[in-house]
Amino acid sequence: MSTQMNFRYRIYPSQKQIVKLNKTISDCCFIYNKLLESKINAYKKDKTSLSQFDLNKLVKEFDVPVHSQVLQNISKRINDSFNHFFRRVKEKKGKAGFPRFKNLNIYKSLTFPQSGFKFVSDKRLFISKIGNIPIVLHRVPKGKIKTFCIKRTAIGWFAIFSCEDVPIERIEVPDNHIGIDVGIESFAVLSNGTKIENPKFLIKSEKKLAKFQRRLSRKKKGSSNRGRARFKVAGLHQRIFNQRQDFLHKTSFTIIKQFKIISVEKLAIKNMVKNHYLAKSINDASWGCFVQMLSYKVEKTGGQLVRVSPRNTSRTCSQCGNIQDMPLADREFKCLKCGFACHRDLNASIVIDTAGQAEISSSEENACGLDVRPSSLKAVEVEAGTINKSA
Ligand SMILES: [Zn+2]
Repeated sequence: MSTQMNFRYRIYPSQKQIVKLNKTISDCCFIYNKLLESKINAYKKDKTSLSQFDLNKLVKEFDVPVHSQVLQNISKRINDSFNHFFRRVKEKKGKAGFPRFKNLNIYKSLTFPQSGFKFVSDKRLFISKIGNIPIVLHRVPKGKIKTFCIKRTAIGWFAIFSCEDVPIERIEVPDNHIGIDVGIESFAVLSNGTKIENPKFLIKSEKKLAKFQRRLSRKKKGSSNRGRARFKVAGLHQRIFNQRQDFLHKTSFTIIKQFKIISVEKLAIKNMVKNHYLAKSINDASWGCFVQMLSYKVEKTGGQLVRVSPRNTSRTCSQCGNIQDMPLADREFKCLKCGFACHRDLNASIVIDTAGQAEISSSEENACGLDVRPSSLKAVEVEAGTINKSA
């Protein structure tokens, strides 16, 4: 089994190299806009549509010290953006978004398909027309490198290798199952009682970001003070993003190493916007990403991620299936029917785990032909509250 993966590394270009990189990016941005203009004009003039091949011919007219493949990638970018545009028009989902002219705030990367770069050692990367740049290879890219991209961000420069045929390493995992609920005070609660706290640095950074944003909003538009404040906010944004990704990667990996069947709630975006708990809003932002990480990581173990319906998960007793009201302010779940009591998030995670298992066993029954139902019924979701009634 193999998959596609991106490998991202910090690179540390010298001041001279930064000047070269910035110049190259700005050249590419200029050419991008020129090509886009040509394409639009050609269509307006006599309805001819310039292909990627035609655009590549136009690229040759620009005399710039940029690697030829990087230049050809500009035509590809334009071609791709039109393809995406036409696809969105066809799908009729929201705004189609006609390809736009770009400025240097948006255009900030260079792509090398296949050539123009080479590892000269495990600490240095050679980039054509730029030079040898120090790179931090915290792990080696695997599979076949398809494209290489240099990106400028608010916190520095990155090298990104997009690789194909990356072998998936199998991880042996015991036949365990677990349910996970998004916590209100903590990041998540597992049905075995484990609480995953939000890392303190993340909460601290979020508070700091709010402060910076308040400051930015007070600065006069167009002033150099505002420019500086904006730079600070952008840098912090990027840092928080990286910190959060790191936390989510580590947490999801810890979970897939321990449990084969992992059940989570299907994301209900509508419910999320409403509440004003800080920790909860941070979690909601991360949750979708976290579930996505679980879903592809679980392939390594041959396990399964089950998304159960979020309906009533926090209102159902995990022991007897009784459904009762649970205002968000109530931290403790106390069953009015059987008297069972525990933390509300823990109770919900157990309900989610049970619902996930019920879904798996019903799909296995279908697969064995023991329970042949009309296909319209097979799609019925397992809902919390119905699970324990038959037991
Ligand atoms: Zn109960």
